[in-house]
Amino acid sequence: FFREEFAVQWPAIRVRFGAGVRHDLVAEIKRLDCRRALILTTPEQVSVAEEFAVLCGDHVAGTFSRARMHTPVAISEEAASYAREIGADCLVAVGGGSTTGLGKAIALRTDLPQIVVPTTYAGSEATAILGQTEDGVKTTLTDARVQPEVILYDAELVRTLPIAMTVASALNAIAHAAEGLYAQNRTPLTSLMAVEGMRAFRDALPRVLANPDDLSARAETLYGAWLCGTVLGQVGMALHHKLCHTLGGSFDLPHAETHAVILPHAIAYNARAARDELRPLAELFGDDEPGMALHRFAGTVNAPMSLEDLGLKAGDLDHAADLAAKNPYWNPRLVERDAIRRLLQAAWSGDPPV
Ligand code: NAD
Repeated sequence: FFREEFAVQWPAIRVRFGAGVRHDLVAEIKRLDCRRALILTTPEQVSVAEEFAVLCGDHVAGTFSRARMHTPVAISEEAASYAREIGADCLVAVGGGSTTGLGKAIALRTDLPQIVVPTTYAGSEATAILGQTEDGVKTTLTDARVQPEVILYDAELVRTLPIAMTVASALNAIAHAAEGLYAQNRTPLTSLMAVEGMRAFRDALPRVLANPDDLSARAETLYGAWLCGTVLGQVGMALHHKLCHTLGGSFDLPHAETHAVILPHAIAYNARAARDELRPLAELFGDDEPGMALHRFAGTVNAPMSLEDLGLKAGDLDHAADLAAKNPYWNPRLVERDAIRRLLQAAWSGDPPV
């Protein structure tokens, strides 16, 4: 992974791992010199918000349980007003990327410090990136204010993640690492983290599927999520993430599942131009072809395989290919509209990558 030239800038993030580490929440709030936390969750995880309110004791200012996928601006503004109204001095976001996104969106508007307690493997907690939607358009920004200050990885909280979501979210994390391997601004450390992150999922995900309550396996998947998310926060992403962004933003497909379906296809596409960079991935997942290696792994963990199953109509494929090829961005291989159309066709049908 040695490179002769590279630049690294690390954000100051405090990261703690441990089953039950959430019980130290008050100590972490005090460490930030704060005393009035606003707890954030989705409506589905409202009981977790209640548990966290109890954990915070007299350090809780309120709860807001309306986080939604793709961070709608209207909800973020309402939540930021609520934070000001109740005099919150920090945010505690407990959940997946949607809840972390809400915390980031409030932080952008208020500059409040954030403690994130991730319950999926999306990895958003490790980045200064925020995706927001307004009037059906999803835009992404990078801003130091949205980078969470503290991350608490508590394996006990991922045990409830349903198996289908566990698998899709794991592939979402692996996607950050896979694209990190060929990123133009990769560094020796991001490549090391990418490989170790993927290794953690390769080894621990089957153990989680065999026993979703296996705390040690859950902890190892969270460790993988942290490494893969850190790669996402450090380097630029390419075709795979752009395709998923287009499909999620314009066709309202579910985030993690879309990543799971597209990943083998996007990596097969780019392997033609980045074979050496992707070799560690191919070795990890045991096939000469990186895309096929991921396709096989996805099969062994029963990952979603087809865009049709996610609700994309056959008639949308042309438009999706147009959109994906429209705005130019850096990618190891030229993004050609017709080749992308073929890629999408295979992903739609659930065929092996072409
Ligand atoms: P999510 O946060 O939308 O969660 C999906 C559902 O699962 C929600 O109902 C949630 O409440 C529930 N859930 C989460 N954890 C659970 C658990 N342990 N037990 C039971 N239910 C649980 O899904 P996600 O895939 O984590 O996040 C997707 C969002 O994150 C997208 O909007 C995406 O754009 C964003 N994201 C952003 C970044 C970034 O760096 N900005 C990175 C990755 C993802």
